[in-house]
Order: sequence, then structure tokens, then C-alpha cells
Amino acid sequence: MKILNLFRKKKKIGCPSCYEEKIIGFGIDLLETKYDSKIELYEKIGDIQIFKCSKCNSEFYKENQTFQKILKGQIDFLKVYFKNEQKISSNFQLQIDLIGETKDWNMNNLIPAKIELKNGDIYDFATIRISNNPPIGYYFEHFEKIIFIDEIKSINSSEFGISREIREKAKNAEEMRMGFYPTALITKNGVKVVINGLALFFKNGEIKGSDLLLSNDTWNHKEKYIYENKIDNQVLVIAKR
Ligand SMILES: [Zn+2]
Repeated sequence: MKILNLFRKKKKIGCPSCYEEKIIGFGIDLLETKYDSKIELYEKIGDIQIFKCSKCNSEFYKENQTFQKILKGQIDFLKVYFKNEQKISSNFQLQIDLIGETKDWNMNNLIPAKIELKNGDIYDFATIRISNNPPIGYYFEHFEKIIFIDEIKSINSSEFGISREIREKAKNAEEMRMGFYPTALITKNGVKVVINGLALFFKNGEIKGSDLLLSNDTWNHKEKYIYENKIDNQVLVIAKR
């Protein structure tokens, strides 16, 4: 009966991450059909199930029908998240109401702010994220630092922050080219600016987010605009309501 083996492809042992370190996620069906899986439930943090591959020691959580790799440091971070309340105080909420909240596609409330920590550190590019979705996944890698609301002394508007009115318009901008959702803006001095999709902050040379107003014109490919520059050293503040 040896001939049968010719038709059965040998399964790899472990998980996709054992063979490709850079992988950040894969479907459960792929794991079941192509691998002799070594992934097992390892621990539970809050309501998140943590899985671990016993061959490569990678850790995962489940999102729909995929295993998402847990990035370095995120486990410790989740433990703090579930242990502490991290609620917005009424004082902070007053400041936040002045800046204005914008909901993203996952119903997280985002606020661009300038913050001061209890240890005296000041950040001009702080995204406050009020959400009951746990802070896990690739999104959190985009920030230089993740801060819990309990570590904060004060919240103020950032001179680089974009107004709520602009954010709400930009969130619903139409796609004009692949991956390009322009919203036309203008500075108080008449300089034409474009942002792509929902942006919380703006900085390019002398132009700051607080200088920007909605333009009466729509984006036009023949026009010259100032575009947003990539902003480094952004931090994320985690809070619940
Ligand atoms: Zn593995």
C-alpha cells in the first residue's frame, strides 16, 4: 500500500512562524491543512486566550479565523491593562471634550493631545485611545511608547493636533487613487494642504495641525499641495470609559 503516500503531502511540524520569523498572522485552516500543529492554549489574560507553539515558542491570540502573533512585550502590557481600571476621570473628560473625540473603524475613540506625565515627561504627539478593545496587535507597534492613563498628570490640546471638524470630514473622504483618500485643507495664510484619510496630527515645516482649516475646494490632481510628513515619536495613551 506504499503508493498511497505519493498522494499525501507530508505536513510540516510546528507552525508557519517556525519557518518564517517575519509572519504576523495566518489562517487556522492553513495551519490545520499544511501543518502538524504544535500550537496549544497556554494561558488566559482577562478574556484573551494566549496560544503558544511548543516548537518555536511564538505566542498568538485568535482573531476571527486567524492566529495573530503577539509581539514582544505585549503580554506584560495586557496584564497591566486587565489588572487596573484605567478609567478617564471627569477632569480629563472635560479636557478631552474641548479637543473632541473621533471614532475610528473599530469604534475606538481617538483624541490628539499634548500630555504631561506624572514623571514630568511631555509629549506633543499623544493619541489618546478610549476603548474597551484590549491593546493587542500590530497597530500598537507604530508608537514609540504606550502609556496608561493612570501615568498622566495633564491633558491639553496639541498645537499639532487636527480639529475635530477636519477629522470627521477626512474620515469619510472618497478614494481618488489607490489608497489615497484626500481632504483639501488651507492654512490661515492661504497655503494649500492635503491629508490622506483620517489624520490626528499634522506637521510639515512651519505648518502645524492647529493652523489648518477645511478648504472650500475639493482635491484636484493639477493643483500643488503640501502633504503630511511622517511624524516620528508618537505615543499612545490607553484608557477605558
Ligand atoms: Zn512555531
